Amino acid sequence: MIVTLVVVAAVVVLALTAAVAWREHRHFVDAEEGRRRDDELHRRQEHEVVESETRLRLSLDAITQGVIMADPDGTVLYRNPYAQPFIEARHGEALVEAAVAELLAEAARGRAVEREVELFGPPRQCLFVSAMPLRFEGRDYGSVALIDDITEPQRLDAMRRDFVANISHELRTPMGALSLLAETLAEETDPEVLSRLAVRVQAEAIRLSDIMDELLELSRIESNEASEQAPVAIQHVISEALTRVMPTAEDKEVPIETVLPALDLVVRADRRQLTSAVFNLLDNAVKYSEANQPVRVTTRMEGDWVEVEVRDLGYGIPQGHQERIFERFYQVDRSRGRSDGGVGLGLAIVRHVATNHGGEVRVESKVGEGSAFTLAVPVSDDEPVGQEDSQDLKPIGVQA
Ligand code: ADP
Repeated sequence: MIVTLVVVAAVVVLALTAAVAWREHRHFVDAEEGRRRDDELHRRQEHEVVESETRLRLSLDAITQGVIMADPDGTVLYRNPYAQPFIEARHGEALVEAAVAELLAEAARGRAVEREVELFGPPRQCLFVSAMPLRFEGRDYGSVALIDDITEPQRLDAMRRDFVANISHELRTPMGALSLLAETLAEETDPEVLSRLAVRVQAEAIRLSDIMDELLELSRIESNEASEQAPVAIQHVISEALTRVMPTAEDKEVPIETVLPALDLVVRADRRQLTSAVFNLLDNAVKYSEANQPVRVTTRMEGDWVEVEVRDLGYGIPQGHQERIFERFYQVDRSRGRSDGGVGLGLAIVRHVATNHGGEVRVESKVGEGSAFTLAVPVSDDEPVGQEDSQDLKPIGVQA
């Protein structure tokens, strides 16, 4: 009996010990499982943080605006590649670095600030630097500075302002003359004077309408809207331009010679635009020559290009002005240009036409010896279309 009791007790003790051991083992396994799950979760969270940080950094690296971040003590923690060249301390850039440091320091005190920094180059550059504090739910995360290159928008803005000022100036002159003439007309009774004044009123009105026409032509060509390019025989373009310039050339007694190749040369072009460009070159050649100084227009093939050269023996253009004459409203000698009815838009039109056709316009000139303008456009293998209306227009002058 006692033995039985002892055995039972031993079994009970063993069973209890095994149960406790089992429970402890379970606890251990559960805890281990929980730790593994926590670790896994932690690793996943860490991975997500690294991923989103990388994504954010790559986005900041990609933007075309300088980004510089500093901690609350002003120590720079990050700058994107766009900001890098501005911070490397060469002469001009040192200015930007100083500006960024100053603005970051001000921003760290809680104030958004901005400043323009001009680098005299070359190339001249204008930068807009701004900085702001990084605060979130009352915590200070430092500050960020942004650098924008505003050189191009500033240049375009200046061009727009110049353009408006130039138009106003060009319109004011004939408008002023018209107003004066109208005043004089109102008080005049002599029929002879009246008819002379009427002729001048008409001349000023024509000048106004010419300016408006040139402006409209330039804006049409600049926007290149409604431009239709088709294969065109360049000879027909020359014929049309010559027909338009002939009255002025005859008035000024400036002879025009044409040199044409034996074969038709074809280009893909907006015929109206191309004619306008050749006409402007011819008109200038006539305008800036004296009587009996011949103008020669030569058409030739140069490699894959068709070139139209307009050469005169007139006044010539000083070297320093030769690139600028293609700008809108630029005139070398304003008084001479005006007296010949020019406003300085002709060569801007020519350059735009050249660009619209994938070509270029060049100038060679010597004061007192004359000028040669060459308009080059790519040759086309196509058959010319739509020439019927100008078939009867024959080039004037000599054939090579
Ligand atoms: P404009 O209406 O004044 O002729 P353009 O744009 O056609 O305007 O030409 C700009 C300036 O370039 C002219 O004012 C003139 O000073 C100069 N220029 C252009 N073509 C010639 C040329 N063939 N000979 C001399 N000067 C020229």
